[in-house]
Amino acid sequence: MVETWTLLRLLRWTTNFFDEKGIDNPRLDAELLLAHCLELDRVGLYLNYDRPLSADELNVIRPLVKRRGQREPLQYLLGSTEFWSLKFKVTPDVLIPRGDTEILVEEALSHAAETGSLLDVGTGSGAIVISLATELSEWQMTGLDISLQALHVARENIESHQLEQQIELVEGNLAELPQQQYDLIVSNPPYIARSEWDGLMPEVRCFEPELALLAEENGLICYQQLAGQALQRLNSGGWLLVEIGCHQATVVKELFSAAGLTNLFVRDDYSGQPRVVGGQLL
Ligand code: GLN
Repeated sequence: MVETWTLLRLLRWTTNFFDEKGIDNPRLDAELLLAHCLELDRVGLYLNYDRPLSADELNVIRPLVKRRGQREPLQYLLGSTEFWSLKFKVTPDVLIPRGDTEILVEEALSHAAETGSLLDVGTGSGAIVISLATELSEWQMTGLDISLQALHVARENIESHQLEQQIELVEGNLAELPQQQYDLIVSNPPYIARSEWDGLMPEVRCFEPELALLAEENGLICYQQLAGQALQRLNSGGWLLVEIGCHQATVVKELFSAAGLTNLFVRDDYSGQPRVVGGQLL
């Protein structure tokens, strides 16, 4: 007799399969993937454990389970992720927004006056600039990215959050920032050194855009370029705030200091790693 695939049986099978493939949270990923395919929330899954799955449902689920087993990030399979409690579309053209990057958003908020202008360098999905625009309704904001494909994703996210009036997108290189002055410049630039590349998780190394991750000069080139332009591109009193890799705090602070920024600070993330460096133009 052929055993029926109930939801619970498939959930157990998938969890076990993901575990064997070395995935960090196999049960959670299995739940989120099945819930997505069956258009249920996670509570809905629990309530439907005994439900037999149809052949059509299994045909939708199987290829996605296989792809996750090959370490394709769950967020790309689901097509979206959450950041700052907002929903963002993500595709392989953009880095998946990380929880750690919410520290950069928090620091930008704590250095923001009532009104002002902000530039987000390397905006990707737009997660940072969009989160900030929802909090700072009197600010004008610009998202810059070198990748047109990323800007398309950012555009869709701006539209889904109805922030077209507040955020403009500009295609451009971080080595030549728009010829304007800003009160805040924020960036989560690429900062992985080539020497670190092989040690990245397969989800990151094989599927996320290298353009958003890898940086020359031992991971520092973007900080050098941003610091070099800060004096021309910041208003007096303005701040440059960047996300960093956990070994880069000292050297990035030195770069900011050498460029003429003051009131330098480092902020740790919630796991105690240095995550944001900031400096002010006085
Ligand atoms: N924090 C990301 C990672 O660990 C890297 C983000 C970036 O390079 N800006 O994969």
